[in-house]
Amino acid sequence: MSLQACPVFIGGEWRTLKGSHTTPIFNPSTGDVIAECPVGDATLVDEAVQAAAAAFPAWRDTPPVERARVFFRYRQLIEQNFDRICASISREHGKTLAEARGSMFRGIENVEYACGIPALLMGDTLENIARGVDCETHLQPLGVCAGITPFNFPAMVPMWMFPLALACGNTFVLKPSEKVPLSAVLITELLEQAGLPKGVMNIVHGGREVVDALLAHPTVKAVSFVGSTPIARYIYETGTKHGKRVQSNGGAKNYIVVMPDADVPKTVEALSTAAFGCAGERCMAGSTAITVGAASDRLLPSLVEAARAIKVGRTDLPKPQPDMGPVITAQHRERVMSLIASGEQEGAKVICDGRNAKVPDSPNGFFLGATIVDQVQNNTTIAREEVFGPVLNVMRTDDLDHAIEQANKSAFGNGAAIFTNSGKAAREFRHRVNTGMIGINVGVPATMAMFPFTGWNESFFGDLHIQGKEAVQFYTQQKVVSTRWFGEGVGDVWKK
Ligand code: NAD
Repeated sequence: MSLQACPVFIGGEWRTLKGSHTTPIFNPSTGDVIAECPVGDATLVDEAVQAAAAAFPAWRDTPPVERARVFFRYRQLIEQNFDRICASISREHGKTLAEARGSMFRGIENVEYACGIPALLMGDTLENIARGVDCETHLQPLGVCAGITPFNFPAMVPMWMFPLALACGNTFVLKPSEKVPLSAVLITELLEQAGLPKGVMNIVHGGREVVDALLAHPTVKAVSFVGSTPIARYIYETGTKHGKRVQSNGGAKNYIVVMPDADVPKTVEALSTAAFGCAGERCMAGSTAITVGAASDRLLPSLVEAARAIKVGRTDLPKPQPDMGPVITAQHRERVMSLIASGEQEGAKVICDGRNAKVPDSPNGFFLGATIVDQVQNNTTIAREEVFGPVLNVMRTDDLDHAIEQANKSAFGNGAAIFTNSGKAAREFRHRVNTGMIGINVGVPATMAMFPFTGWNESFFGDLHIQGKEAVQFYTQQKVVSTRWFGEGVGDVWKK
């Protein structure tokens, strides 16, 4: 089987990097290497940034309505190529096709939001701030922006960034995850077909050297990052040290509190999806259920039954599709298994064990079955660390106060949810829990394009979040214009 190409895109030209080191891109369903990702360097980054800088003046001066039209065409092209993109996501990441489709719907919503850019860029005006003086604000683009993205959403996370950044009038350099760069290449090809001028969007590949070069490059004005917390912190600290705007999203550990009055079948369904959807490789995965009082006895038998029924299998064929695909690499599978083992060693009970999941038609895939670890204590490794696999921890508590206290011990702060029929309990939870996104009888309260993706604590470093109006602010700078016209007579209304 020949390997798929993984070109860079600079100044409107697709190019294969010759002679560079490469890292393997796997099909996690089979363990096969499907492509090699080139490892770029600082020279490559400089070329991409220079191309983006050269394209900036003309793109900045393109009227917002014309920029929006590029994204209307882009949206249509994504729809026309939808199945091809979803197949690429499933092949390089391992998500089921249904999950890949779901992620692309979220991605498309970001394009739709960017189509509204003429309205989003409107400023404020106040007439007569002083006699004969008017004041108005203009939102102007920053220049060259960069995006650095993780493996778990190969197309959606890049689409959280570049459509709005470009629609605001910036130019962009994307550095996708070296584990899953192929879908990012695919969606960039469509941008070109949509009529985006050369150099406005660029893609480079690689790891730390490329990232460091982007963070230090004097022409890069802003960096959007999504990935794990240690790297997110590093990106924020290094990027801001070099004088850039940075929005940096990190890892997470999200809690789902289940009250004794929760609707059991609906809660089981929501918990299974939240914990095991995308094989748990989601920053909004509901990775810990905190049961309150009798909720554990009401919930756990059906939850274990539901988890055991989840069919694991390869996702790279159109049919049959399983309920859950593999994790990203063999190494990551090992890490998840060792975290489950550490939970057992620290006193928790594995009540549904997916470690021996077998997929007979694909023995080399990176599979793990759904796993539930009960009686987890908050001071243990499996409770504190982000597992990022199909593993649900269960913590048992006596009352809502205790549940909120447990959730608030987390270093992270992406999302938290409560399942209850009590408005009072829901209100108390919403008010007191220290995370940026809250679900009330919603298991994965990930926000849509028109709302900011509001991670808190160690899930986010920066001021202005990705998506929504905050992202428009992030990708623009305000100019405030005060105007007075001299001349006697004409228009001197304040004298009358
Ligand atoms: P990662 O941090 O390993 O990699 C993310 C990006 O950083 C990649 O492009 C990678 O090439 C680059 N990178 C890796 N090591 C680097 C280094 N030492 N220096 C500079 N750059 C480096 O993350 P991942 O494993 O690809 O993705 C999973 C993580 O992303 C999870 O922690 C998950 O929670 C998080 N995530 C967060 C959000 C969010 O919105 N908060 C969304 C999706 C994923």
